[in-house]
Amino acid sequence: MKPFAYVRATSLQDAAAAHGGRPGSRYLAGGTNLVDLMKLGVERPGTLVDISRLPLDGVETLPGGALRIGATARNTDVAAHPLVRSRHPVLAQALLSGASAQLRNVATTGGNLLQRTRCPYFQDVSTPCNKRDPGSGCAAREGVHRDHAVLGHSEHCIATHPSDMAVALAALDAGIELHGPEGTRTVPADAFHRLPGDRPEQDTVIGHGEIVTGVLVPAAAPGTVSLYRKARDRASYAFALASVAAVLELDRDSGRVRRVALAFGGLAHRPWRAGTAEERLTDAEPTPGNVREAVEAELAGARPLRDNAHKIALARNLAADALATLARRAQDATPGTP
Ligand SMILES: Cc1cc2nc3c(=O)[nH]c(=O)nc-3n(C[C@H](O)[C@H](O)[C@H](O)COP(=O)(O)OP(=O)(O)OC[C@H]3O[C@@H](n4cnc5c(N)ncnc54)[C@H](O)[C@@H]3O)c2cc1C
Ligand code: SF4
Repeated sequence: MKPFAYVRATSLQDAAAAHGGRPGSRYLAGGTNLVDLMKLGVERPGTLVDISRLPLDGVETLPGGALRIGATARNTDVAAHPLVRSRHPVLAQALLSGASAQLRNVATTGGNLLQRTRCPYFQDVSTPCNKRDPGSGCAAREGVHRDHAVLGHSEHCIATHPSDMAVALAALDAGIELHGPEGTRTVPADAFHRLPGDRPEQDTVIGHGEIVTGVLVPAAAPGTVSLYRKARDRASYAFALASVAAVLELDRDSGRVRRVALAFGGLAHRPWRAGTAEERLTDAEPTPGNVREAVEAELAGARPLRDNAHKIALARNLAADALATLARRAQDATPGTP
């Protein structure tokens, strides 16, 4: 491993100064992804700025009912938090479907959002990979790509984004709080991760040196129900082949959809918010036929590769099951309890 400098930051200002926006600087949170990549030679930082002890690990309610989750809050603590569990089950379930209990005890909110793809060629420095080494090519396109993207991929990269939590945050209309040399800003979770286009090396819109300070989750309307479903090769310790985060609010008198949010994981280089399906389902009855038609319309733009067309059927069935379950729960939900 290449030698590196290690700095433990005690304040946000400290962290930003130690990072200095230098190309070789990296923030270190739980280290469950970054340290692995350093061992593989994919990451070769000159300076590691440890932010894991910054006082950014709280979960608090803001006036109006939104939740603010700090960037260094551990995945285990967020998933177990009573307000997260009661108000946004989709977020707790997405977190608990990721990694293992040991990893979740260490992994942080910011690090989870910024973890890198698990494309095996990205992790193998002996193979071409445009994400790791821009311009070198994409070994996955003609190689092993069973787990790769079916939506929004480009000739330069077909990788998927690995985070389950990010899929739930996209469906919850969360905001990502950033602090950087230009000040602070909040980016919608749905616009935080990028499609690969011709710049696959850039996973997100974060600027180098910017730090994630927290996540804002808006209050859910009373009667809103939500859940996360994930298909994977093993029951735990496995990334999504396909997953879905669904949030539903029904008009209880008419039984029609007042608001629906649907986001897919495992299908694209970023969480895939299903705008077409949402539009078709709004004001409609969530019958199996309407749901299937809406999801089919969303997935009509999928471009499967040689070996991953199965993901489309997985996504369709997960979404249909999730929405049918939520429609039943929404009819039974007591008004006034999100
Ligand atoms: C075997 C295994 C299985 C896994 N399975 C899953 C799974 O099924 N689903 C899933 O979602 N995840 C899974 N994970 C990934 C795991 O959730 C991530 O490794 C973890 O969330 C990363 O968090 P961290 O705090 O350890 O990040 P780190 O490794 O410390 O950092 C990751 C990246 O984020 C940057 N960073 C961290 N915090 C900040 C910040 N606040 N601001 C700016 N940059 C920051 C770092 O510089 C680095 O580039 C798995 C991991 C392993 C090892
Ligand atoms: S899919 Fe993306 S990450 Fe994987 S080898 Fe191709 S360029 Fe690299």
